[in-house]
Formats: sequence, C-alpha cells, structure tokens
Amino acid sequence: MSSPPRRATVSEPASETVRLTGVGFGYADSPEVLRDVNLSLKPGSFHFLTGPSGAGKSTLLRLLTLSARATAGEVRVFGRDAAGLSRGEIPLVRRRIGAVFQDFRLLDHLSLFENAALPLRLAGGRARDYAPDVEEMLRWVGLGERMDARPPSLSGGEKQRLAIARAVMAKPDLIVADEPTGSVDRAMADRLLKLFQALNRLGATVLIASHDEALADRSGARRLHLEHGRLTEGGR
Ligand code: ADP
Repeated sequence: MSSPPRRATVSEPASETVRLTGVGFGYADSPEVLRDVNLSLKPGSFHFLTGPSGAGKSTLLRLLTLSARATAGEVRVFGRDAAGLSRGEIPLVRRRIGAVFQDFRLLDHLSLFENAALPLRLAGGRARDYAPDVEEMLRWVGLGERMDARPPSLSGGEKQRLAIARAVMAKPDLIVADEPTGSVDRAMADRLLKLFQALNRLGATVLIASHDEALADRSGARRLHLEHGRLTEGGR
C-alpha cells in the first residue's frame, strides 16, 4: 500500500486545541446529555471517543465544531471561548476544523471532485493549483475513478470516504470525525485510520468518535469514554 498523501505541517500556537471545563448540555426533551465534562486536547494529540449509542458522542463533537452551545461550563477551541465568538468569527474558527459528520453533508449537485475541493475553493484557492492534491486524496480514499460522478450515485461507504477526503483537504488544525468508518469494511477502516494517523503526524489534532472498540484498540490512540453523559479518560 502506498503512503497517504503528504500534507504541509500544520502550526498550532494555542497550548490546548480544545479545553472543556465543567461542560453540560441538554436538549429540550433530554435535559442532561452531557454533565460536568472536562476535556483537554493538546495540539497534535490523537484520541478516540468511545461509548454506547446515545451516550452523547455526537453532541460533544457538535460543541467542538461550534454547531451547538454548551448549556453549562466553558468550551474553548484554539484558545478562544466559543461563547464569546462573534457571528463573523465562527466561520473563521470552523475553517480550521475538518469535520466528518455522520450524515456526510455532501452537496449532491457538485461532482466528487468539486465536493472534495470545496474547502480549498472557499479558502480562495485556484482549481489549477489544488487539482493535483484533490485528485491524490480522492485516489487515496479509493474514489479516483469516480471524480466526475455526483454523490447520489455513491454507496454509503463511498459517501463516507468522500466526506473524509473533504474534511481533511484543507489541512485543518483539528479533525473531528463522527463514526467515520461506520459504513466501510475493515480493510477500508484501517486505510482511513492510516490517513488520520498520517495527518496527525503532520500536526493535526484528531478526535474520532466511534463505537468500534476494536478499531480504537488497533489505532493505539488515547481513549476517552463517554457514558451516561460523563467523560472518563483512559477507556478500557
Ligand atoms: P451518540 O452520538 O453517543 O450516539 P448523541 O449525542 O447522538 O449520542 O445523543 C445523545 C442523547 O441526546 C440521546 O439520548 C439522543 O436521543 C439525544 N439527542 C440527540 N440529538 C438530539 C436532538 N437534536 N434533540 C433532542 N435530543 C437529541
């Protein structure tokens, strides 16, 4: 197997990429999804977040991607208090985060190439400059033959691989992935894990939520475990 695409080194000036202090979160009909959660993700760290379905893993990731606001405590991302960010600052912080969502959030009217290239285009890049990188990444996730296809023609696993390619394309400082291998077989899960590990070695902070304990074991990454709204470090 060839090496994952090489990315430029990611710089991370804040002493903690993520810091959660006494964080609580509730939905209207689930008032205590997260309780007194404390978490520190250092720059360049790699963690797996495990826990049973419904434990609050996706909710925790939503706080980190600034898609939800904590109802108690403090969320700091890249040293900034999430609650203190202005509407104009939120997209700038989000641009430093590569998020893989469980529902993929692909744009069906764009080709695979255009979907994967989106973060680079939004950052002001030119297609002729970024095309080789995008093509290399799509080949790495096994979609090199389908670059002109559109997402509706893809299988669930292919959509998942495209979502991962897009999330990491712009060399994000923080990669947050929600069950990123839930729709692929073990060989592809290991290949995708290698991609996350390669990006981590180049400086990205990585947090992967997964109920796949075996994958977490194989990763050798540090473990965080969420259960009944409470986070513990170390896992099993
Ligand atoms: P996990 O990712 O660990 O499976 P989630 O964060 O998706 O857990 O869900 C945690 C709890 O919050 C569950 O009880 C779920 O039903 C509830 N929940 C998740 N999203 C919503 C929502 N949008 N509105 C109300 N309750 C929600």
